[in-house]
Amino acid sequence: MALKKIFLSSPHLSGHELPYVQQAFDSNWIAPLGPNVDGFEQELCAYVGTGHAAALSSGTAAIHLALIMLGVTAGDVVLCQSFTFAASANPVMYQGATPVFIDSETDTWNLCPEALETALKYYADLGRKPKAVIGVHLYGMPAKLKEILALCESFKVPFIEDAAEALGSTYFGQKAGAFGAMSVLSFNGNKIITTSGGGALLSTNGDYVKKARFLATQARDPAPHYQHSEVGYNYRMSNICAGIGRGQLEVIDERVAQRRANFHFYKETLHPLPGITFQPEPEGYFSNRWLTCLTIDPQQSGGITRETVRLALAEDDIESRPLWKPMHMQPLFADSPYFGGNVAENLFKSGLCLPSGSNLEPADLQRITTRIKKLFV
Ligand SMILES: *Cc1c(COP(=O)(O)O)cnc(C)c1O
Repeated sequence: MALKKIFLSSPHLSGHELPYVQQAFDSNWIAPLGPNVDGFEQELCAYVGTGHAAALSSGTAAIHLALIMLGVTAGDVVLCQSFTFAASANPVMYQGATPVFIDSETDTWNLCPEALETALKYYADLGRKPKAVIGVHLYGMPAKLKEILALCESFKVPFIEDAAEALGSTYFGQKAGAFGAMSVLSFNGNKIITTSGGGALLSTNGDYVKKARFLATQARDPAPHYQHSEVGYNYRMSNICAGIGRGQLEVIDERVAQRRANFHFYKETLHPLPGITFQPEPEGYFSNRWLTCLTIDPQQSGGITRETVRLALAEDDIESRPLWKPMHMQPLFADSPYFGGNVAENLFKSGLCLPSGSNLEPADLQRITTRIKKLFV
């Protein structure tokens, strides 16, 4: 009998979603507004501990709106973490601005404060102050926020916190999503909780969130007819999707615990193998462990690379994936400047994400680790 396919990170419904969706059907709120949208926004604010939230059609839309509100236009420079998913950087291109990529450090795999400082100084000296810094909490691991926020403060450049992968993570006790001038969440199908597809823009500044809602609904001026003086977008979340989100948010803490338990199982089981290192979690940092990530050093593993492992797992219908390919190595961004060394590049070359869904069974985890261990004997 063929074993079932194990996915990298698949949706995990709680059973709490359908009543909210049913309510939407019963009340005919089948639209990109409604009580679930309002409720989801309030519940997100309460959970993250921030003042204001706008539920949107995607995390990418949230980053795009953040850049628009910071006045990013053609010719502007935006500093962005290189080691990330393309969605962090694509909205910079929508605005015709230039993304400038920054390397990671080895403690959290996120924005390297030294490289960030070099870039901020470089552009300050040129008289081309960057319009924003986009930093990410990759795979759920909070970035070095104290250092990054201090640099943004001293160079007077707003920080956009891409917390798309980090709902439920904390940095010295405070939730990811509460640190940026504007912060971004994603509820795509593969994230820790999902609305099937969706995102949110969060801020302690209510003006930003109010403006985001305005821009996200075609920028309609207050008038009885349809009157427009700005370019608008159709970026709001539907009341159905928000209903799914409300049911998912009820179990977020369980989901974080389940993903962290996956990580601990992998670490306990695979740590003794030579050459394997897991994504670190410094003191005071708490990752939701959205994905369990490791690197393999072939010098120590007897020649086994992350590709050896990935292909062996694929043979057994187990999905794993290389770590994000840094943006400064992407053909799309070949012309973009880059500040830093080869930290992100080395992570990409040696790193692998293991199946990490909160719905994995103990038998699945056994099957995965047994297959990996077999390569090492
Ligand atoms: C998923 C993700 C996004 C984009 O979110 P969508 O909702 O898929 O548009 C942005 N940044 C990072 C780091 C992500 O992982």
